[in-house]
Amino acid sequence: MFFESHASLQAFNTFGIAARAVALLRVADVVGLQAALRHPLVSGFTPLLLGGGSNIVLTGDVKVPVIRIEIKGMQLVEETAKAWIVEMGAGESWHDCVRWTLDQGIPGLENLALIPGTVGAAPVQNIGAYGVELQDRFESLTAMDLHTGRSFELDAAQCAFGYRDSIFKHVATAPGDFGLAGRAVITHVRLRLPKPWKPVLGYLDLERKCQESGVVRPDARQIFEWVCDIRRAKLPDPRQIGNAGSFFKNPTVSADQCADIIAREPNIVHYQLADGRIKLAAGWLIDACGWKGKTIGRAGVYEKQALVLVNRGGVEDPVTGGEVMTLARAIQTSVYERFGIRLEPEPVVI
Ligand SMILES: Cc1cc2nc3c(=O)[nH]c(=O)nc-3n(C[C@H](O)[C@H](O)[C@H](O)COP(=O)(O)OP(=O)(O)OC[C@H]3O[C@@H](n4cnc5c(N)ncnc54)[C@H](O)[C@@H]3O)c2cc1C
Repeated sequence: MFFESHASLQAFNTFGIAARAVALLRVADVVGLQAALRHPLVSGFTPLLLGGGSNIVLTGDVKVPVIRIEIKGMQLVEETAKAWIVEMGAGESWHDCVRWTLDQGIPGLENLALIPGTVGAAPVQNIGAYGVELQDRFESLTAMDLHTGRSFELDAAQCAFGYRDSIFKHVATAPGDFGLAGRAVITHVRLRLPKPWKPVLGYLDLERKCQESGVVRPDARQIFEWVCDIRRAKLPDPRQIGNAGSFFKNPTVSADQCADIIAREPNIVHYQLADGRIKLAAGWLIDACGWKGKTIGRAGVYEKQALVLVNRGGVEDPVTGGEVMTLARAIQTSVYERFGIRLEPEPVVI
């Protein structure tokens, strides 16, 4: 276990916000994690768990100890006629895990390529992209109780996955309440990659790639390359421009509400969901309010994608979490005033 007090977190969050932690403990295995939880500076506190820091906004110095999960390991644990089951350490990079499975000849994760962050955080918000969510490939996970240090397993139903949501995002306030936020740390994740593999190509950008290339039946490696190309063209690389990906969730409205909005805004981008409700593209709503490319202080709206807020101050004079949240609130207000829709932030605000 690595320990540092009054540690800078600037290199550990993809916005590049220059906050500090009262204590930073970096753990590389389960034994190190148990030792960290017993550390005098940690016991009695609810630590902040950190993976790649690609889905957080730090609004100030962190007053509780921070535990960064760096548990590694990737292995095929089972192969049946119906699926491959792979197990990953929570501290592995998610994208490396996608690439590793393809290198082993195991398809199924290609649509989720190039999502930053760690394997351990993937179930927390049920990551998703290009028509696939983590829950579609999830088998089970192992987590450790932050107070007792005991490990336990959860299956998909117990994780209560939803759109960018899971049991790990909810706080239990009374005994028997639903919620593991602040109570458990994920140490290992097992994924089920079904046989026979079926490509997921229903997304417009992927359909366009099929048409442009003339490849009608792409293999998983081809889809992986396409997804990486599409993402590189649309999203800022956090190593060059600090950001946390999509800043707001896509809001969902009833068919009646949508019809009402379409009557006023015929061009609104929307998708029909299986349950009859309609998902609206948050980026379109923000763009329609004129925010693309705008800046407040050192926080900006990315010029190629209005859903992404960026650090315009760079490393030397970085944006603060306060500036990011001021911009986010201004966007929420204008979207609400024009469309009557409340946008909900996707990253965890700390
Ligand atoms: C450029 C860019 C593009 C992105 N694209 C997508 C996308 O397409 N789809 C998508 O879903 N997301 C996307 N994201 C968001 C982000 O990559 C994911 O949410 C990712 O899973 C976060 O991983 P992380 O390790 O960085 O988590 P962190 O930011 O470190 O943590 C996020 C949350 O998870 C908790 N946590 C972290 N590790 C653990 C653990 N081991 N156990 C329990 N809790 C833990 C933290 O306490 C925090 O609450 C994008 C982000 C960026 C910067």
